[in-house]
Amino acid sequence: MIEKVYDPKKVEDKIYQFWLKTGFFNPDKLPGKRKKKFSIVLPPPNITGSLHMGHALNATIQDILIRQKRMQGFKTLWIPGTDHAGIATQVKVEKELKKEGKTRIELGREKFLERVWDWVKKYGGIILEQFKKLGCSLDWSRNRFTMDEKYCEAVNYAFWHYYKKGLIYKGKRLINWCKRCESSLSDLEVEYKKEKGNLWYIKYPIKSQKSKIKSQNYIVVATTRPETMLGDTAVAVNPKDKRYKDFVGKIAILPLVNREIPIIADQRVDIEFGTGAVKVTPAHDFLDYEISLRHKLPQIQVIDEEGKMINVPKEFEGLDVFEARRKVVERLEKEGFLVKVEPYELSLPICYRCEEILEVLPSEQWFLKIGRLAKEAIKAVKSGKVKFVPKRFEKIYFDWLGSTRDWCISRQIWWGHKIPLKGEEAVLDTWFSSALWPFATLGWPKKTKDLKNFYPTDVLVTGRDIINLWVARMVFSSIEFLKKEPFKYVFINPTVLTKEGKRMSKSLGTGIDPMDLIEKYGADATRFGLIWQVKAGQDLRFDESVIQMGKKFCNKIWNATRYTLIQIPNSKFQIPKEMRISRKLTKAQREILKALKKTIKTVNKNLKDFEFGKGAENLYHFFWHQFCDKYIEESKKEIKEGNPFAKKVLLYVLLKSLILLHPFIPFITEEIYQKLPLKNKKTSIMIETWPT
Ligand SMILES: [Zn+2]
Repeated sequence: MIEKVYDPKKVEDKIYQFWLKTGFFNPDKLPGKRKKKFSIVLPPPNITGSLHMGHALNATIQDILIRQKRMQGFKTLWIPGTDHAGIATQVKVEKELKKEGKTRIELGREKFLERVWDWVKKYGGIILEQFKKLGCSLDWSRNRFTMDEKYCEAVNYAFWHYYKKGLIYKGKRLINWCKRCESSLSDLEVEYKKEKGNLWYIKYPIKSQKSKIKSQNYIVVATTRPETMLGDTAVAVNPKDKRYKDFVGKIAILPLVNREIPIIADQRVDIEFGTGAVKVTPAHDFLDYEISLRHKLPQIQVIDEEGKMINVPKEFEGLDVFEARRKVVERLEKEGFLVKVEPYELSLPICYRCEEILEVLPSEQWFLKIGRLAKEAIKAVKSGKVKFVPKRFEKIYFDWLGSTRDWCISRQIWWGHKIPLKGEEAVLDTWFSSALWPFATLGWPKKTKDLKNFYPTDVLVTGRDIINLWVARMVFSSIEFLKKEPFKYVFINPTVLTKEGKRMSKSLGTGIDPMDLIEKYGADATRFGLIWQVKAGQDLRFDESVIQMGKKFCNKIWNATRYTLIQIPNSKFQIPKEMRISRKLTKAQREILKALKKTIKTVNKNLKDFEFGKGAENLYHFFWHQFCDKYIEESKKEIKEGNPFAKKVLLYVLLKSLILLHPFIPFITEEIYQKLPLKNKKTSIMIETWPT
């Protein structure tokens, strides 16, 4: 007999262990021929991470797809794994060391890396256990880590491939530099914080005595960072700016330094900013660098990697930037070059890891030439070989690929894939290795059976924030190395926000831990409630009451099952693949079978269209309102009257509902399936036949 109340705590772990024992997460152990393949790679979470709502939603969507395809007879593979998360992990272990009063520098590289590996062994698997709690049918026998031995081989192979093709080069380039992390950061790792600052207006005298400009023998520039003027190599105005028509081509004298610098016209200068005339500091500003290349200006580095002034007049040499700023302003004022100071709201670039204010510096780095690769990646989406769902996210992808600079792939940290060149101390950008994820996890560069069977993968489910960092790079890496696209669809899952529409963040206290929800309501209810809230490409404003609704729904299913089982004690039924809607059936029976047929059709379409919320809703309404409210009520009468089909219809509709619901709420559907009195029962509902 079946218990009165459904208790997910008694069921979920037990069922997960049962699934592991069946081996059905592993495609090689699935029964039947299964000629068609379906594969997904789990976006590898950082080993430093723990499951957040974004992961929970992302993984539930993938599990729905994989479970449905498995029941549809596909040979299904969903690969798990974790990312070594270079800077994130290094910072985490450094914090641990700090508590012991040590630094990584004291420890030395080798000892430090041992500590990181210890950390990885201890904590790296936590997030994977959480995916199990959620019910994810990942093939754990194929679990990968971006720093495991074979993965490292793949990364080295990729590096050498690019290197030999001349696509990797060392160059002085501007980078975002965090002096605290002693590391360069990609543009995408830079965050911004608002702060009150100033706009200083500075006079730059004009050199020529015979100037036609009678009223004014100087030009005023505005800047938020006066100390960088020591590295100026030009003054620039917009060619359309009539105020400065007569200035272009003249020479200005850089105050405090007495360097002669040209006044140039460049269309990238913002007429609205300050006076419309700006100082050009090519070594410490991306736009100025670009301008300097166009106008062949020298680049003079005046700030070093410790944030100290270099290549400047003696009095400023060695000062840190803030001291230098104070002193430069003081001198400018004293010598009459300072015109005025205005308050100005700054948008300061900060390190996404440690929030240190970043400097832009020229530095020796390794770069990957992006030009041709980006073009290939654009083509893959333009041609429809890779499709974004929702389609509008293509724009982010195209915009970035169309404008991106060469990829700075080196990082001055210790934890990561060391660049395999003699004497090289830097490691590769974490995203360099994750860009290989869809194929390196299948055994590439070896020509493995898995690669042959499961590549390209079918769907990538990910968030919009890493379309550039990750998706675009996987696409061009795959085309470069395997001459094909890594996946057919990129489903961009909604961002999970708070009910008020704010970002969920642990540190802001606005985060919700999915593990708490699972503890409170069970994994099925959590999954169902989350998926219910996925609506046509919109962000998800998380509402916990919907999870409660998911729990009520599970109870409803349980009660309907109890009722059904009570009606049919001691008998086993042969349930047909599809029950004919014949005239012998009662009106109520015909109606519920018709409604089921319609629901099957709709839900199949919903899942095909990635409309997961609608799928959940349709199943809910069918089960609750048509099956429970209507047919179950009718069946009571029918059974009393001895109708010969009533029990079979009951069991048939219940079974088909469970199969349809299984991808959404896998635990309870399996638990019930195991209790059904079926003659032709499979080992697990996971391999039941999906209705069409
Ligand atoms: Zn930092």
